[in-house]
Amino acid sequence: MILIVDDRPENIFSLKSILELHSFAVDTAGSGDEALTKTLKNNYSLIILDVQMPGMDGFEVAEFLSGNNRTRDIPLIFLSAVNTEKKFITKGYASGAVDYIVKPIDTDILLLKVKTLHRLYEQHSQLLTTQAKLESEITFRIIAEAEIREKARELHGILASIPQVAFTATALGEIDYVNERWYDYSPSLEKFPGVCPGDPVISDQWKKMLGGTSALELETRIGKLDSNDFRYHLLRVVPVAEHGKVIRWVGTFTDIEEQKQVEKKKDEFLSIASHELKTPLTSIKGYLQIMDKVLTEDGKTRAFAERALNQVNKLDGLINDLLDVSKIENGELKFDLHELNFEELVASTLDMLRQIYPAVTIEHNNTVDAWTRGNALRLEQVIINFISNAIKYTPSCTRLSVITRVTEEGNLYFGVQDAGIGISAENQEKIFGKFFRVSESAARAQGLGIGLYICAEILNRHDAKFGVQSEPGKGSLFYFTLPLIVKE
Ligand code: ADP
Repeated sequence: MILIVDDRPENIFSLKSILELHSFAVDTAGSGDEALTKTLKNNYSLIILDVQMPGMDGFEVAEFLSGNNRTRDIPLIFLSAVNTEKKFITKGYASGAVDYIVKPIDTDILLLKVKTLHRLYEQHSQLLTTQAKLESEITFRIIAEAEIREKARELHGILASIPQVAFTATALGEIDYVNERWYDYSPSLEKFPGVCPGDPVISDQWKKMLGGTSALELETRIGKLDSNDFRYHLLRVVPVAEHGKVIRWVGTFTDIEEQKQVEKKKDEFLSIASHELKTPLTSIKGYLQIMDKVLTEDGKTRAFAERALNQVNKLDGLINDLLDVSKIENGELKFDLHELNFEELVASTLDMLRQIYPAVTIEHNNTVDAWTRGNALRLEQVIINFISNAIKYTPSCTRLSVITRVTEEGNLYFGVQDAGIGISAENQEKIFGKFFRVSESAARAQGLGIGLYICAEILNRHDAKFGVQSEPGKGSLFYFTLPLIVKE
């Protein structure tokens, strides 16, 4: 807006009309005092100031304006009919005017000057706004950087005090801090600790991880500098994210050697125990089978022998599972794959299961006459495990359904749907692990938590995909898919 200051209303009127005709917003003041009051309240892009006014004259107004931070950048044009002498014009400029026009006013010249000064002022204001924004952004950044430095200092303080080997890295993976313990294992900040030959190489895993946003967990043996003694460590690297973007990585190596040794001893014990139990159990089973055959007349005694044989069979199953686990651990679970008719395998396994569980209706409606490559005994073991679990974890189970079909991708699909207790999403990730049992189900049914672990190993060796879909309280669907063989 432009402010016109003149003590004569007729002057104001004619100037105002000209400027408004050219679309300028105009405000007016009839004296120097009024002009100063208005400039304190409003923002003006230009002030046209009459020099000759009663009271405060134009020069004085200009001096006030140039002495005030708020108004000193507003361009001024002096208007005067009288003070055309050079010294007055000079005084006008000295008191802050940007331009000087003498009366009678040449409208074209006035308009040109007004337009130019008005535009200059607008540009100047825009520059000031941009500068202010830049300044506040710079201040914001300086504060943010100081905060980040402070946080990093705190984090490094914590990492220095923990018993683990620890480090931090930039989002791009450059290690920028290591604690004192790091130097027991590595000569420099840039080099990861050396790993035992044959163990996963840390830098390879590190590169893979950097592309994503998930944490890395890796068990590997690392050795102190100049030592051949490698100890198991759990390397965990977690991302620190801000607004969904990884800003740094924090990593620790935790010594888990003792834990590993205990696990190893436990595995060895289970392996020895199951081997040692297997031999006497096989002969007990043999004698019980003979007794079962011999004791045909004495009904009561025979029933006892049958029950004993039943229990011995269960025990035999458990010991076989434990033996399988130790074979998996030692890489000794060996079996061959042959072409087999999948539907025949499913049908015969279901027949056997129907005899074992006469109270349960096992539905299997849609059959697929298809072939795959696999080990019949081991696949049977998986099917038995899925179905006996479905029965075991469904209170008073009387019915469950088995689904076999060919998938859209052309694979064989096998699934067992129960209406049992279900499994939470968190536990679904864990149940195929070794010795894992969901605590609620452990209270309902006996088990060792190794059946699914063995199934997973068998299915992996068949290049099968497998998994579970389940909701607590609504039942579970355990499934696997196998590659199909097209027969002539
Ligand atoms: P086990 O049955 O001997 O405990 P598994 O390895 O076969 O061992 O199963 C691991 C765990 O998975 C079980 O303890 C149980 O908690 C859960 N689970 C397996 N199958 C089912 C199912 N059909 N419904 C609910 N939970 C199941």
